[in-house]
Amino acid sequence: MTYRAYVEIDLKVIAANVATIAKSTNAQILAVVKADAYGHGLVQVAQTATSAGATWLGVALLEEAIELRKAGISQRTIAWLTPPGEDFISALKHDIDLSVSSISLLREILSASRTLGKKARIHIEVDTGMRRGGLLDEWSDFVSEIAKVQDEIQIVGLWTHFARADEPDSSVTQEQIDEFEKYRADLNSAGISPEYIHLSNSAATLTRSSAHRSMVRLGIAMYGLSPDVTTLGDAAKYALKPAMTLKGKLSLVKRASKGSAVGYGGTSILTEETKIGIVVLGYSDGIPRNTTSSAGVWINGERAPIVGRVSMDQFVVNLGAESTATAGDYVTVFGTTPDGNGYSIDEWAAAAATINYEIVTRIASRVPRIYLN
Ligand SMILES: *Cc1c(COP(=O)(O)O)cnc(C)c1O
Repeated sequence: MTYRAYVEIDLKVIAANVATIAKSTNAQILAVVKADAYGHGLVQVAQTATSAGATWLGVALLEEAIELRKAGISQRTIAWLTPPGEDFISALKHDIDLSVSSISLLREILSASRTLGKKARIHIEVDTGMRRGGLLDEWSDFVSEIAKVQDEIQIVGLWTHFARADEPDSSVTQEQIDEFEKYRADLNSAGISPEYIHLSNSAATLTRSSAHRSMVRLGIAMYGLSPDVTTLGDAAKYALKPAMTLKGKLSLVKRASKGSAVGYGGTSILTEETKIGIVVLGYSDGIPRNTTSSAGVWINGERAPIVGRVSMDQFVVNLGAESTATAGDYVTVFGTTPDGNGYSIDEWAAAAATINYEIVTRIASRVPRIYLN
């Protein structure tokens, strides 16, 4: 049996990316493996990153952290997005660090901890300007409350998240750091000094060493992609290499005449007679439906641009009149090709008016992952 389509993940490349970052900072590295490790495979990436020097793992959801534990991974792990009503007893049993961003969540975690007779390990999240997660209006009440219960809980970390670290010239990141220091001082005044201070995502890790502190939360850069190609340049500039390659088979190759309207809505008209190829991947696999002809696939050293709209399970490419491609051949949608001439994840992101994060993360689970190295 051969796969109709598959994602190739080069684990050696991920390890090299982690090692490259590790050389550039004194901070510990928390490998961000949420969302199935940005589509690269939760457990495989977690194992690779920790062997390559990451000392912590970070996920959004509690179930992602529990999946790591069930796979036998015991590295320190934070789950930072837990709405009320999560199974905090399980979190504590599995030694998962939790993030706290409200008084009610603190109470809920404390109650689980009392029931189980085991201290929770928490990281306090403060909102320094992003206005997403983190304590904001409740802060002073929170400090009084946590000061009273600090013997019952392990306060491991204090952290925040940057909104615009991918804009190195913006003053906003420094303002967030200044704001963070005020929160930290309040906590210190209440007799609380967490060991782990963490603010930096990939963009701040690459561009702002003053924000590294005791730990950086490394996401997209570990996968070999730039947090923002326009403001920061591409990953190669930082000696990072993408780890993901997407390949799919041509289900059909055929000649189509000049003037043919291709696909739903007939949005694309062939300007000359050509061979078209049908690729067995569609928007249900995570290929963005709105991708334009500035992306496409690589086959036999040639680029074949998309024609027409992407369908649910397939899309059409223009192979060129002289193409020797045949049904059953694999094309490389994005990623590594022998001649380096394939479409990049960044090109696909631009062609679909999105960011590289979304291109890799949305590749569906029905596309099997194959691991190299
Ligand atoms: C996803 C995430 C990160 C990683 O961001 P990158 O830009 O991919 O490095 C870091 N911290 C938190 C809280 C996140 O949710």
